Amino acid sequence: MQSMAPPTATARAEKTHDCPLCGHELAAANDVYVHLQVSHRKSEISEALIQATADESNQSVVAER
Ligand SMILES: [Zn+2]
Repeated sequence: MQSMAPPTATARAEKTHDCPLCGHELAAANDVYVHLQVSHRKSEISEALIQATADESNQSVVAER
């Protein structure tokens, strides 16, 4: 018998959504949206979005330092 995952893993069988800012685990994507609005400020979210976008464009554009 192989036990690939710890017993607690059964509780996480369903796909969860992590908050991109703090890693908080939420059951649904909509919960993440609500969490973002409640737990994080708009400026914080905007920054994260800009960074995420910058990360993608970094592949073709040289980042300023
Ligand atoms: Zn969060």
